[in-house]
Amino acid sequence: MTDTESQYDGELSASGPDAQAQVTIRPSSDLYLAASVFEHGPQGIMVTDADHKILKVNPAFTRITGWQGQDVIGRRDNMLSAGRDEPGLEEGIQAALDRDDIWIGELWSRRADGEVFPESRTIVAVRDEQKRLLHHLCLFSDISAEKFAAERIHRLAHYDPTTELPNRVLLQDRLLHAINHASRSGKRFALLFLDLDGFKLINDNLGHAAGDEVLRLVGVRLTSRLRKADIVARVGGDEFAVLLSDVDRDSGVQAICDELLQVITEPYELGGEQGHVTTSIGIAVFPEDGSDVQTLLKHADAAMYQAKERGKNRYAFYEPEMNRRAEERLQLTRQLRRAMEHDEFDLCYQPQYDLGSGRLVGIEALIRWRDDQGRLVEPTRFLPVAEDTGLIVTIGAWALETACRQAQQWREQGLEFGRLAVNISGRQFQGEGLPDAVENALAVSGLPGELLELEITETWVMEGPFKADAQMRALRDMGIELVIDDFGLGNSSMAYLKRFPVDKLKIDRSFIRDIPVDQDDSAIVSAIIAMGHSLGLKVVAEGVETAEQSSFLRSIGCDEAQGFLFGRPVPADEMNVALLYSP
Ligand code: C2E
Ligand code: MG
Ligand code: MG
Repeated sequence: MTDTESQYDGELSASGPDAQAQVTIRPSSDLYLAASVFEHGPQGIMVTDADHKILKVNPAFTRITGWQGQDVIGRRDNMLSAGRDEPGLEEGIQAALDRDDIWIGELWSRRADGEVFPESRTIVAVRDEQKRLLHHLCLFSDISAEKFAAERIHRLAHYDPTTELPNRVLLQDRLLHAINHASRSGKRFALLFLDLDGFKLINDNLGHAAGDEVLRLVGVRLTSRLRKADIVARVGGDEFAVLLSDVDRDSGVQAICDELLQVITEPYELGGEQGHVTTSIGIAVFPEDGSDVQTLLKHADAAMYQAKERGKNRYAFYEPEMNRRAEERLQLTRQLRRAMEHDEFDLCYQPQYDLGSGRLVGIEALIRWRDDQGRLVEPTRFLPVAEDTGLIVTIGAWALETACRQAQQWREQGLEFGRLAVNISGRQFQGEGLPDAVENALAVSGLPGELLELEITETWVMEGPFKADAQMRALRDMGIELVIDDFGLGNSSMAYLKRFPVDKLKIDRSFIRDIPVDQDDSAIVSAIIAMGHSLGLKVVAEGVETAEQSSFLRSIGCDEAQGFLFGRPVPADEMNVALLYSP
């Protein structure tokens, strides 16, 4: 007989008069096996009497709970309870034992050091041949690791790790709840769909860590302005959703949206640099704007697009009309994807003149798209969609290369045109590929960089001050001139303009339209010219349609002009003829 066996036997018989009765057959090998399981098994084992008083515990019990045998023997087996279980559980266990002689389940227990842990427990009622209850045999294991893993999996599946906010899956679940609740109570709730404006710029210019920090802060700011019952979720890259419960009036929703717009706009401190984002919000209200999860999400999204189109940093309520527009956008995206392959784009060219000498000083390339039905689609209609989808990068590269080849052809034909101007969208500028794309266009066409100028809209330049500097300098090193297009619409400061390596300002058409009659516009145009000149920049006016506008511009010192008065945008071959006969 081994030591273990003798020790086991001895201890058990010492534990009480009934103790020996629980082991019915005692051939030595069975006993040895039982003792081994007791001594070395991974499960905690506790043997109690019929009244749940602890008689004996094994080493695994001590390992798991931290309690030594001598500290627990004689105490009730519920001494381990952390007091966290559902009320009535103890009675339930007792009932199961009385009925089935076994209970299996999970409990919250407390270790000797006070730490609470979940355990999986099996309790068996041990009876003698007359069915008299002798003992309870209680086997348990610590399942904190499994619980933790399960919680982690639940968190990963339902929460966004960056912001720790609920993700789309959990939001949909909550929406379903909200719908059920609101249908029963007859109340309304609002779903807000938020998309950050200008977030990509932060990511591209300050790096992904800064981008993540902004997302986190946006989450914190949104949450801080809402009630406990409201839910903030992150549903995509820079998209958030807010579920506002119990809203009875639209004015209440408006007030909250105003506040959210406000908190998002405040600057973000990002390791020494300041970042700015705003947000566009779309609102769908249950039940008016949709009675199921998918419809509400779709309509809030459509309203958000509308808010973007109306100028960003604002909110828009869903209107049925938006559905049609969203459909249109989708269709346009599909058509645009095909257009590139099917060669449906073309360029028109419009001349620019020096107002003093009347000489041709440049030609601007303007994109044209005839769709598969042969209909002309306005650039102002398809370019925003191309920007959103990123297709603008391919389209823009094509425009750049095609324009450069055309200009080089004119040079080879001995036709003077001054400089070639090509429009560049914000999205093309955001990536790092623009200097490469320009270098490539110059290389394949043979056009010298000194003959190329790029037009970038003012609103974009002011939105993306970070890396824009470096890009502009790289382009300037190739001899390329930079023009700020649609100038006057944004709110650039002198300080900004001084920092940027730009050469020219192009005054937006809207300021030219009513000069010289409109006094305000005339004053603005004069001020832009004076400011531009004081910074050493040339100033161009676009959209010049009348002789009065032209002579007024000349009288106040505007350098160059472009517009229907001098020539409309025309296809390359027409421009060819014009160049042949130009003075
Ligand atoms: P933009 O660069 O400011 O171009 C001037 C716009 O005014 C052009 O419209 C032109 O046709 C129009 N225009 C010129 N003179 C007059 C005039 O006297 N009166 C009036 N009412 N309009 C005049 P378009 O061609 O529809 O282009 C619209 C905008 O689309 C452009 O504004 C530019 O920002 C963008 N765009 C055009 N081509 C390209 C391109 O290849 N790439 C990129 N990224 N954007 C482009
Ligand atoms: Mg332009
Ligand atoms: Mg313009």
